[in-house]
Amino acid sequence: MQVATGKSVLNGIAIGKVKVYKAPKLEISEALIEDVEAELARFDAAREKAIDQQNALYEKALIDAGEDSAEVFSVHAMMLEDDDLLDATKEIIQTQKHSAEYATKVAFDNQAMVFAEMDDPYMKERAADIYDIEQAVLNNLFGIDTDSMQGTEPCILVARDLTPSETVRLDKSLLLGIITKEGSSNSHTAILARSMGIPALVQCADVEEDWDGKDAIIDGYNSCAYVEPTADLASSLKKRRDEDLKQKALLQELKGADNTTIDGTTIKVYANIGGPSDIGLVQQNDAGGVGLFRSEFVYLNSKDYPSEDEQFNAYRLAVEALAPKQVIIRTCDIGADKQVDYMNMEKEENPALGVRAIRICLTRKEFFKTQLRALLRASAYGNLGIMFPMIISKRELRECKDLLKECEKELLEKGIKVGTYSLGIMIETPAAVMIADELAEECDFFSIGTNDLTQYTLAIDRQNAGLDPFLDIHHPAVLREIKMTIDAGHRHGTWVGICGELGADPALTETFLRMGIDELSVNPVSVLPLRKLIRGLDLSKKPEDQE
Ligand code: PEP
Ligand code: MG
Repeated sequence: MQVATGKSVLNGIAIGKVKVYKAPKLEISEALIEDVEAELARFDAAREKAIDQQNALYEKALIDAGEDSAEVFSVHAMMLEDDDLLDATKEIIQTQKHSAEYATKVAFDNQAMVFAEMDDPYMKERAADIYDIEQAVLNNLFGIDTDSMQGTEPCILVARDLTPSETVRLDKSLLLGIITKEGSSNSHTAILARSMGIPALVQCADVEEDWDGKDAIIDGYNSCAYVEPTADLASSLKKRRDEDLKQKALLQELKGADNTTIDGTTIKVYANIGGPSDIGLVQQNDAGGVGLFRSEFVYLNSKDYPSEDEQFNAYRLAVEALAPKQVIIRTCDIGADKQVDYMNMEKEENPALGVRAIRICLTRKEFFKTQLRALLRASAYGNLGIMFPMIISKRELRECKDLLKECEKELLEKGIKVGTYSLGIMIETPAAVMIADELAEECDFFSIGTNDLTQYTLAIDRQNAGLDPFLDIHHPAVLREIKMTIDAGHRHGTWVGICGELGADPALTETFLRMGIDELSVNPVSVLPLRKLIRGLDLSKKPEDQE
């Protein structure tokens, strides 16, 4: 087995036989021509054909990859009408008496070099476009049929590099993946591959011509390719690929659909994320919003206290990118199993019952206010929910709200924008469940953290796998607490969701819907399977009569 590394363009797995593509070598003669008019006519015919081809590629890319990715081909068609470029080419034919092929090569290369030397990165990129249209004109002059580059069998195409035109021309139904020796992950080719959903690896220096015909796997998740992989590796990556395909099929089927049962009950299905790097997953899985953004990552990934600006940038990124979808950011939930050195927390006998989450924030108010200011600033950029973890009393919640108001005032006095936002708490302890009526009067939503709620209700340390024989994850005590919380919330107009792991448990979806849950926030990849399940439920039937 050979392992080759590169830069991944798309997180995905491709499995198949390699087809090595070698661009045809064009021998351009420097011999002089006699019939200038005929040569000008040949150039014009090749150029006009290239324009038609670019327009056809635009139409194909529009279907395969969408408007944004297709745009490059209409730019190419326009470039092929550019007077300066045409005059420069014709001039070489007319005055130097060179062939249309030679004139095209020299004039287009010169133009590409002018772009390549520009400072503006956008203009620099245009050089690749000129090379692409030059290739198109030359192929037409040489009568080369580029449609045959892929063969007739499904393959992983391996090439030194591919132009956008070559990429789009590929038959998607036979294209499993792409590996190129050159190219950048932001090139048009990479963007096209990404929009076409094709796993691709660029800048893969190890590409070899003798891979042709060999079995290979592109592992886009780990930016590598395996040539002649071992049977074990192939079978585990095949499993992953099959999961991806299932998810893709679900997406096709359910993208944009409501989370509505057969009898017409609709709930929100949101995603849990660990930071802005998961925004793509929220979009890809068509989640309705983010129900739990664990803000801990800003603390855990930092060597020292993260500044207000650092936090603001991270929160804003998510809120702005996902607007108008709601993004619920949970304030710092450090402590217990999540420790950071720079906070110098005292060692505790029993950290799960110790100074964690909101308890740290309310004892270190300036630390907490830094996060609150960052969140309030981010609220101006989208649809933000602010959520406090581990609340066990009305006094704590009021204190959090007072601090939030204090921060808001400070920001407004400095002329800094603050938007609107909704306010919620996590229900993670039996205490919070018991006083849910009082808490509901103080906030817009509840999100039940079933991971901690189970731990604190059953007195089972969630970190201790040795306790598994005693753990009933569907314990009736926890289920009754969930029902009590939903009822209490609804009595006060407060919506209720679940963001702990139980929210994604398909064995409980119907139970939660019958209880009246308003939202389930789950791992992004569980969003569509959950939607499918919800759409198959009929709550007007007795539970035992469900199919
Ligand atoms: C929970 O306790 O259920 C929860 C979602 O929070 P975490 O798992 O981050 O403690
Ligand atoms: Mg928790």
